[in-house]
Amino acid sequence: YQAKRDRTGVEVYESKRDSNTPDRLGLLGDLRRALDAHEVELHYQPKVRFDGQVAGLEALVRWVHPERGKVPPDEFIAIAESSGLMPHLTEYVLETALGQVARWRAQGLRVPVAVNVSPRDVHTPGFAGSVAARLARHGVPAGALQLEITEHVLLEDPQRAADTLAALSGHGVKMSLDDFGTGYSSLVHLRRLPVSELKIDRSFVARLAVDAEDAEIVRCTVDLAHSLGLLVVAEGVEDDETWERLRDLRCDAVQGWLVAAAMPPEETTAWLRARGARGWQRPRAALPAAA
Ligand code: C2E
Ligand code: MG
Ligand code: MG
Ligand code: MG
Repeated sequence: YQAKRDRTGVEVYESKRDSNTPDRLGLLGDLRRALDAHEVELHYQPKVRFDGQVAGLEALVRWVHPERGKVPPDEFIAIAESSGLMPHLTEYVLETALGQVARWRAQGLRVPVAVNVSPRDVHTPGFAGSVAARLARHGVPAGALQLEITEHVLLEDPQRAADTLAALSGHGVKMSLDDFGTGYSSLVHLRRLPVSELKIDRSFVARLAVDAEDAEIVRCTVDLAHSLGLLVVAEGVEDDETWERLRDLRCDAVQGWLVAAAMPPEETTAWLRARGARGWQRPRAALPAAA
């Protein structure tokens, strides 16, 4: 494998994209063991509204391989998906996230958590029932869990996917349509999926303030989503100007490094205690106004 270092000097694993190299098989075995050993962690990234209120947290999986260093989620999720390990990974993530939600609730921190699920999960028989059972076991109300899905769920067996999502929705679980604009975005999908939130992909948000076409795409997406009664979250907001443009475009909430990157659980708890009560404030907005 090839290794490079990220900005913090931690080694980052990069594999070649072919599917069944010995390298990928090795990584798959390591991931299986890491899950069993609870070496895979969840970090949490806030979604905040423009008034600073914390709308929720997204759970993002993190794996530091003992020899290879940080393995990016996109990398090992692709491996899990193509190998049949995905349901196991998702169970692990749901179990960990719901345990954390229950602990936060016990401490008086009532914040909904979003978990990413892959199309594979949605097509696994009994998925909706197993999510409901897990919520009950943790004593967490369904409204405290959100599932982030992508339009890819409709590729394989759209009717089956729609049935599963309807069942989840019937249990009270909220659904969010992730990475909107990157795949097979169509109005048909939006009508067919019982989602209450749409997340505009970072690729449209990143250059919003400098690219008129991206700005127009975001404007249309926000308007479309609102006309369908959906909330809109922008992903990957890194600077003030983008925040302001999104607010002007009537986007509902943002997620991104401007607010906070995904944080380990203890750091998230501290962040929630510090920010949760009075709401997140942009650093600049916190400065006293010039006389
Ligand atoms: P996603 O669900 O669209 O998550 C957003 C990604 O954008 C995350 O990358 C997050 O760390 C990153 N991000 C957030 N704010 C910013 C920003 O301001 N700038 C930039 N450049 N990036 C930002 P991450 O954690 O590497 O995850 C990548 C993808 O892996 C996720 O995309 C999701 O599709 C998948 N993933 C992560 N955790 C899980 C999981 O537990 N289960 C499943 N099935 N997929 C997961
Ligand atoms: Mg997501
Ligand atoms: Mg996304
Ligand atoms: Mg993504």
